[in-house]
Amino acid sequence: MQVYKFGGASIATPERMQALLPIIAYGGKPLVVVVSAYGKTTNALEAVVKEALEGRREAALEKLAALETAHNDYAKALLSPAGYDAMKQRLNEYYTEMHWAIDDAGIQHHDYVYDQIVCIGEILSTSIFSAYLNEQGYTNRWIDARDLIRTDDTYRDPLVDLDFSRNQIQKHVLPALKETGIVITQGFIGSTADNNSTTLGREGSDYTAALLAAMLPAQSVSIWKDVEGLLNADPKLFPNTVRIEEITYHEVIEMAYYGAQVIHPKTIKPLQNANIPLYVKCFLDTKLKGTVIQNTTDAFVYPPLIVLKKDQILLQVTSRDFSFITEENLRNLYDIFHAQHVKINLIQNAAISLVVCVDNREDKIRLLVEALEKDYKVLKNDDVQLLTIRHYTPSILEELTKGRVLLLEQKTRNTVQVVVK
Ligand code: ASP
Ligand code: MG
Repeated sequence: MQVYKFGGASIATPERMQALLPIIAYGGKPLVVVVSAYGKTTNALEAVVKEALEGRREAALEKLAALETAHNDYAKALLSPAGYDAMKQRLNEYYTEMHWAIDDAGIQHHDYVYDQIVCIGEILSTSIFSAYLNEQGYTNRWIDARDLIRTDDTYRDPLVDLDFSRNQIQKHVLPALKETGIVITQGFIGSTADNNSTTLGREGSDYTAALLAAMLPAQSVSIWKDVEGLLNADPKLFPNTVRIEEITYHEVIEMAYYGAQVIHPKTIKPLQNANIPLYVKCFLDTKLKGTVIQNTTDAFVYPPLIVLKKDQILLQVTSRDFSFITEENLRNLYDIFHAQHVKINLIQNAAISLVVCVDNREDKIRLLVEALEKDYKVLKNDDVQLLTIRHYTPSILEELTKGRVLLLEQKTRNTVQVVVK
């Protein structure tokens, strides 16, 4: 049994979706297909949410109407007339759900509203994909991932209830696979015990694929992307990137954690724990070898693995009364960060101060700084970047930081991290 994950780019247009048929055939059966929203739908839904939350209901509905038309057109391009008529009715029900959520925007918590609206992107794309595959002779079962992935109610960043989800997955997916051999479900979404929708964090479909694979269990997961495999850096940011043929879970989890956009950071743990290899393959050319991520005993010589995390803030937190930043104060500080759900990307402490690099999430940072300022003085450097290089050499470090202001540098044997302006 295999799990395939298709991201937004792989189904960005009806033509792209058509081009996946041979890949589905190549996957054989049983096959679990995890799909995200098509193209930039999630971004567009985020824009709808923003309008709604800022009280511009009409603008929200207008933006939503454009998305609805686009989805209808997409379905029409792929389905038979009868198939399209049925699909249109089904899609309409999902659109209505979003309209209700927009009406709730003033009443409910921001993150809750976000999840109720944004989750529908994957529901729409998978509904169309499943119906299209059925018409093309790839009989499959569509399963709502919100019946599989149970989470707590930390909207936008929930914890998955692994035991409950495993039970659900085995209960629903295994019999469906017996019946049709192919299951289509959504990445990125889950639901709470109260049946509210949750989303697992941007690009979270990878994580869903890993959870499904670990819990079924499957032999492997393949993530189909528009690149030839895992590269040592983002080609949009760095020249001369190279493809990595094989890499350990450990290397990849470090890269993802520090902001490499290649794979959602939570993806690796379930796969490593169950020892399931993860393939990164190119949907544009299935003959390309791609990358395999797995446990390995071979000692590879890796090229420098480069990750640039943009839109960071550097905070310097200093005790007002000159008390040392040692265990007692550190614990207090960590508690404050934890309470505000701010993840620390880099940390360094001195006698009476602590410097941390965090994501620039305006809403969270404002509350964090307010909480910190009760006992500490806080200085802020806006708009900095965190550069991480694993397997660095002095020359690559010099090349990548030339002409930039270095605000902080940390080196270990394998890794260098710098905060630059
Ligand atoms: N559609 C979601 C996003 O764009 C999840 C995903 O693509 O994995 O973030
Ligand atoms: Mg996506």
